[in-house]
Amino acid sequence: MADYKAPLREMNFLLHEVFEADKLWARLPALAETADRETADAILEEMGKLAANTLDPLNRSGDEEGCHWNDGVVTTPEGFPEAYATYCEGGWGALVGNPEYGGMGMPKMLGAQVEEMLCSANISFALYPVLTNGACLALDAHGSDELKEKYLPNMYAGTWAGAMDLTEPHAGTDLGIIRTKAEPQDDGSYRITGSKIFITGGDHDLSENIIHLVLAKLPDAPKGPKGISLFLVPKILVNDDGSLGERNAVHCGSIEHKMGIKASATCAMNFDGAKGWLVGEVNKGLAAMFTMMNYERLGVGIQGLGASERSYQSAIEYARERVQSRSPEGAKQPEKSADPIIVHPDVRRMLLTQKAYIGGARALSTYVAKWLDLSKYGEGEEKQHAEAMVALLTPVAKAFFTDKGLECTVLGQQVFGGHGYIREWGQEQLVRDVRITQIYEGTNGIQALDLIGRKTVANGGAFFELFAADVQAFINANAGNDALAEFIVPLATELQRLKDVTAAVIEAAKTDPNAPGAASVEYLHQFGYVAYAYMWAKVASVAVGQSDDFYRSQVKTARFFFARLLPQAKALAASVLAGSETLMDLEEDLF
Ligand SMILES: Cc1cc2nc3c(=O)[nH]c(=O)nc-3n(C[C@H](O)[C@H](O)[C@H](O)COP(=O)(O)OP(=O)(O)OC[C@H]3O[C@@H](n4cnc5c(N)ncnc54)[C@H](O)[C@@H]3O)c2cc1C
Repeated sequence: MADYKAPLREMNFLLHEVFEADKLWARLPALAETADRETADAILEEMGKLAANTLDPLNRSGDEEGCHWNDGVVTTPEGFPEAYATYCEGGWGALVGNPEYGGMGMPKMLGAQVEEMLCSANISFALYPVLTNGACLALDAHGSDELKEKYLPNMYAGTWAGAMDLTEPHAGTDLGIIRTKAEPQDDGSYRITGSKIFITGGDHDLSENIIHLVLAKLPDAPKGPKGISLFLVPKILVNDDGSLGERNAVHCGSIEHKMGIKASATCAMNFDGAKGWLVGEVNKGLAAMFTMMNYERLGVGIQGLGASERSYQSAIEYARERVQSRSPEGAKQPEKSADPIIVHPDVRRMLLTQKAYIGGARALSTYVAKWLDLSKYGEGEEKQHAEAMVALLTPVAKAFFTDKGLECTVLGQQVFGGHGYIREWGQEQLVRDVRITQIYEGTNGIQALDLIGRKTVANGGAFFELFAADVQAFINANAGNDALAEFIVPLATELQRLKDVTAAVIEAAKTDPNAPGAASVEYLHQFGYVAYAYMWAKVASVAVGQSDDFYRSQVKTARFFFARLLPQAKALAASVLAGSETLMDLEEDLF
């Protein structure tokens, strides 16, 4: 497998040239003092080194060894504790954290690119700090000042890690039916009792404490999602002076043996009357958890992107070296027994498909991160606008990046032929590792339902109109530019098609309760293609006409995307418009 090289040129290009991040940072008071181009470039360069030199070399050995469970104690593979210590010493856990509690207050636009590098190098490792970041975010947004003061500084420092405890054996997608109980105690704390499964980083040996954010129900809570509250449950209780006290009654009963991300501990957690503290308001736990989940969901999308980039880097190197058959145009390297496989149109199709999806995802993740920053640091109408964009685009990013992530890693494996199926080349691990990203943090089917249901039909398309207006403004601004017509004209056509399809689903939902669900996955994919088209057109608008190889490569990849991949949006629209009839027609016992 090729050594990982952080795609810093691509990242800098997107941040500074396409999205002009420093202009945005300069006008937001909370970011003006902390973030600028020089700092951003230095941060990305440093993470590039950490990812390549420390985390990437542990990826394969971590997969081979996996995690260990011994009498309730979980240990991570060899090298992980030292790498985690290096990560913490670098202050990486504090990057996007709240400065009031020891965070660095850096923008998400930068954080998203840092996460991509972590995930390219080692998804299993990345999950430990990424989960902690999400827990910090939920605590910062919803916790009391006392909880924040007590927990956030150590969590930003990484000495205490975070975990998110939602799933129970009988309750995954439908969290409304969870059974974990929270009983109020006289001292203001709660006694938490229940079993959670599939908890990433539920226990491990990387940090001295683990802070669980747990969904549970009070004895008198209303049934369903409106009766769920969120609690902070430390593995080791923290004394008033901040020192560690007694062990809390929360234990890891076992770890899962699974298809991929083997160096990430997936734990069954037992809460046996553990001491916990309410985060946010009683019965508003799901909303509080969604703060964390929105953040995590972009993060999970970025896992799909990171794995794709890693797979592409290896595939491109292999395709340049592996010689098989002659080019259809005649021998390209007659001195060799055959030409490198990169001459073959089908191998180029695979590599360009990877490159085009990766570029689209990296640009879209930076774009979504921009809206996350505006929703956090903006004010008034701009903040509200940004919140709506985040709500709309998060399920697209999570599901489309990860569906395409699996496709990209399979393509990267395919470029290797039979060697792609063999462990030592590393491509099969990426396929196994990325597969979970389509499932956790809400399956991609549920993301699609969220996009079409809560985010579109429920508000009559109001959020969608904001996105469409943004794309339309870009189209209008570039309408007279002949050099961009090859991108702008098809983008306008596909935007209109998406508008028509959105309106048709909203209309169908008025009379057919199955209409949103039937449309959902194909609609999300159609949306994803249009969003990538917008991103590639934006990239082309900066790169077109420039002679440097980097820009020429961007323009040629954009052309490939528009010519070879975007046409799928039309076919997806046809599937969406086919409605629910054929899906619901077959009687259950005839399946
Ligand atoms: C490795 C791993 C790590 C994980 N990490 C965590 C973690 O850290 N914390 C945590 O709390 N959980 C975690 N999970 C759990 C994960 O989030 C759930 O597995 C996921 O949300 C799906 O829930 P489920 O497995 O119960 O599937 P189910 O909810 O039973 O779903 C089964 C199928 O039915 C579909 N479905 C269900 N309801 C609907 C509906 N209303 N409409 C349409 N389709 C529907 C789903 O899309 C899916 O295809 C992890 C899981 C794994 C495997």
